[in-house]
Amino acid sequence: MTYDLVVIGSGPGGYVCAIRAAQLGMKVAVVEKMKTLGGTCLNIGCIPSKALLYASEMFDEAAHGLAPLGVVVSPPKLDLPGMMKHKDVTVAANVNGVAYLFKKNKIDWVSGEGRIAAPGRVTVKGAEGKESTLETKAIVIATGSDVARLPGVQIDEKTVISSTGALSLASPPKKLIVVGAGVIGLELGSVWRRLGSEVVVVEFLDHVLTGMDSEVARFMQRTLEKQGFAFHLGHKLAKVEATGAGVKATIEPAAGGEAKTLDADVVLVAVGRRPFTEGLGLEALGVKTERGQVVVDAHFATNVPGIYAIGDVIRGPMLAHKAEDEGVAVAELLAGQAGHVNYGAIPAVVYTSPEVASVGKTEEELKAEGVAYVVGKFPFTANGRARAMRHTDGFVKILADAATDRVLGGHIVGFGAGEMIHEIVVLMEFGGSSEDLARTCHAHPTMSEAVKEAALAVAKRAIHI
Ligand SMILES: Cc1cc2nc3c(=O)[nH]c(=O)nc-3n(C[C@H](O)[C@H](O)[C@H](O)COP(=O)(O)OP(=O)(O)OC[C@H]3O[C@@H](n4cnc5c(N)ncnc54)[C@H](O)[C@@H]3O)c2cc1C
Repeated sequence: MTYDLVVIGSGPGGYVCAIRAAQLGMKVAVVEKMKTLGGTCLNIGCIPSKALLYASEMFDEAAHGLAPLGVVVSPPKLDLPGMMKHKDVTVAANVNGVAYLFKKNKIDWVSGEGRIAAPGRVTVKGAEGKESTLETKAIVIATGSDVARLPGVQIDEKTVISSTGALSLASPPKKLIVVGAGVIGLELGSVWRRLGSEVVVVEFLDHVLTGMDSEVARFMQRTLEKQGFAFHLGHKLAKVEATGAGVKATIEPAAGGEAKTLDADVVLVAVGRRPFTEGLGLEALGVKTERGQVVVDAHFATNVPGIYAIGDVIRGPMLAHKAEDEGVAVAELLAGQAGHVNYGAIPAVVYTSPEVASVGKTEEELKAEGVAYVVGKFPFTANGRARAMRHTDGFVKILADAATDRVLGGHIVGFGAGEMIHEIVVLMEFGGSSEDLARTCHAHPTMSEAVKEAALAVAKRAIHI
């Protein structure tokens, strides 16, 4: 049998691509080397981290957030195995859900490691070394990414861990050093800080959350410091040595200067992720890569006819929903439709407390591009629902084009920011203006009223401030 499409990798890019292609009438197989479907995101990324973030937030809330609401409980006790079980059950429900969707859409899951022998031919090495060959009209590479490592720093997943190890520590380390103040470092640092660890973050750059609007990043740094995080910004990890009791980390100023040593029980290396293409045979095929990324054109085609790539393995933000949208787009393009991804309206969320969510341009980007813009801002301290829930930390910031009023960016720090951002995303998809948003009726009392007020603030007519 010849498949219409063979997808290599079953992460959010690969599995969504397969389902959309099957919906469009294609005969599809997905090759996956992990024991379960769903890739990094469902197994060791988005889903387990969010299960632990939610559970640890509830633990923290029970300890500190309920008494001011007049709810008196005994100090909560941590049942870490119970929390890990919640994470495992959540992961299982999600990965089994993908297996169900594959059956429903008659997609073949071929278990093993895929290699592209030639355009139109994928060989799969199964668990017992048994090799099979799949013939296909098109191949989509969706092999995702892997943890980025630091030279000379060995990850043993015990005392020097990656994000994967940080999702299943047996007990909260007394002291945790997080290397990297990006999304993953701050999220997983938050989990263990809430569960009792002292968390020290070492970051090469002079700010946290690179790529986010700098006002948002500064706000989050201050907020996390209030929560007990300590930051060594402008520092790099030089070496980690095992001591009997834990680890000794040597850090140096990024700009050069005197080294310091920090003792800790565990070091979490969270310096990013790198595209994963090992074992695919790309070099032999002549598939072009750049800095490890598979190079694709606007239609996700590589330079070799019949071979496409999507998700973390290509350019763009390493986000699950970006991979999913690319999966849909490439399936539609293969079916002769006009699949498309609007890279200007991809939201990004940091699931700290409060959450951070953003879409479109930051102020720094607009300045660099020389675009004249107007800022509309509204703080949650002036929002009735936020007060009622004692979630007044944060603000909404809308950036609109000074000449046309078209919304160019939206940034929210606040409780539920990751949900609230989507009205700005939809607005931007439709090329909407701040006035469109400001004239849209918002239910009262909701946190989302702050989004409307920020849009009103663009024209200096916010009501509640
Ligand atoms: C701790 C953590 C938290 C995260 N949280 C979020 C979040 O909240 N929101 C968000 O948007 N993103 C998050 N991400 C990022 C997100 O997981 C990725 O952007 C997303 O998984 C990329 O999807 P993908 O389909 O490109 O690749 P992946 O999900 O990495 O899947 C690739 C799959 O390909 C398989 N594979 C690789 N090579 C082969 C081969 N030769 N043969 C067969 N199979 C192969 C792999 O086993 C894997 O299953 C997080 C990541 C981490 C690590």
